[in-house]
Amino acid sequence: MHKKLFIPGPVDVKEDVLQKLATQQIGHRTKEASALQRSISEKLQKVFYTDNQILLSTSSGSGLMEGAIRSFTRKRAAVFSVGAFGDRWYKMAKANNVPADLFKSEPGYPTTPEMVDEALSTGKYDLITVTHNETSAGIMNPVGEIGALLKEKYPDVLFLVDSVSSMGGVKIETDAWGVDVNITSTQKALGLPAGMAICSVSERAIEAGRQVEFRGLYLDIVDLYDTVKKKDHQYPSTPSLPHMFALDYQLDRILEEGLENRYARHKEMAEYVRAWARKNFALLVKEEKYLSQTLTTIMNTKEISVGDLNKKLAERGFMISNGYGDLKDLTFRISHMADYTLDEVKDLISNIDDILGL
Ligand SMILES: *Cc1c(COP(=O)(O)O)cnc(C)c1O
Repeated sequence: MHKKLFIPGPVDVKEDVLQKLATQQIGHRTKEASALQRSISEKLQKVFYTDNQILLSTSSGSGLMEGAIRSFTRKRAAVFSVGAFGDRWYKMAKANNVPADLFKSEPGYPTTPEMVDEALSTGKYDLITVTHNETSAGIMNPVGEIGALLKEKYPDVLFLVDSVSSMGGVKIETDAWGVDVNITSTQKALGLPAGMAICSVSERAIEAGRQVEFRGLYLDIVDLYDTVKKKDHQYPSTPSLPHMFALDYQLDRILEEGLENRYARHKEMAEYVRAWARKNFALLVKEEKYLSQTLTTIMNTKEISVGDLNKKLAERGFMISNGYGDLKDLTFRISHMADYTLDEVKDLISNIDDILGL
C-alpha cells in the first residue's frame, strides 16, 4: 500500500505531475529546451518574488548550497545555524577549504538580527548564510529582518539563504529582503520528486564570485549563470529533462492556485497540527512568530515510540517522521507542505489519535 508522506520531503506528488516526468526526451541544445527552461525561470521568478536570474541544477538542494558557499565567499563566511541543516552549510565550507565560522542558536531559538549584527561588526565576513526554515527544529528565521539589517549597516555583505523546505509554502520576498542567493529543492513545498535544485542569484553575487579563484566546476554558480545568459537558458551539462517537464507543469498548477491561496492553505494546515500538538504534547519552538509553516516539530513529552506509531500508521497508509540530528530522540515531525489539504491533515491526525488513544 502507498503511504502518504507526511515527512518533510520527499512529499507525495500529484498523479498528473508524475505523468509529466514520463514525457519523451528533447535535445538539450535545442530551441525547445531553451523555451522550456526560460518558461520555468519566468514562473519561478514569481514564486521567489525576484527579478534576479533563476538557475537550475541537476542535484538536490545540497548541491547548490555547497556550490554557493564555495562560489561566493571571497574573505570569510559567517554561517548561522539553528539546527542540522545550518550545520551542514558549515561542514560544506570546511570540506571545500572555504574560511568560515559557525554561529549556533540554542535548539528551538532563531537566528536573530542581533546575532548577525554582533558577528558582522567584527568586519571579518563578506558573506552570511541563514536557514529560512530549519527542517530539524521546525523553526522559521526572520530572514526579512536580517535582510533589513544588512541593507542598513552591511550593504556589501552577501546574503545566502536556504529556503529548501519552505519555498512555495510561505511567502519569501527574495528581492525585498535583499537575498543574493536563495536556494530550494523540488521535493519539499514545491511538490515534485527530488533531483533538482533551484536558486535565484543577484548580479552582485556573480561579480563577487568572479573574484573567487577556485569555484569547482559542476557546481560553479558563476559558470551556470554565464552559460544560461550566453546560451538562452541552457546549462553546461545535460539537465534532468524529466524534472524540467514536471516543474514547468507544476508551476502552472501553483500559479493557478494562487500564491496567496497556497500560503493560506499551508498556514491553515500548520495551525491545525500545532493546536493538536499543544494539546497532546508540546512544541519545540516556543515563540509563535518563529514557527514553521511547512512542518511542525513536536516534543515527544509522552515518550511514545515513534517507530511503533509509524508501523501502525503504515498499515493505514501514512508516514510521519522521527526527529533529526541532535533532536532525533526528543522530537517527532509532521510535515504539512506542497499539495496536501486540511482534510488530509485532519485524516492523518485522527488516525494518530486513534492509534495512541488520545
Ligand atoms: C531537505 C533540506 C536540505 C537538503 O536538501 P536536499 O535537497 O535533500 O539536498 C537543506 N536544507 C533544508 C532546510 C532542508 O529541509
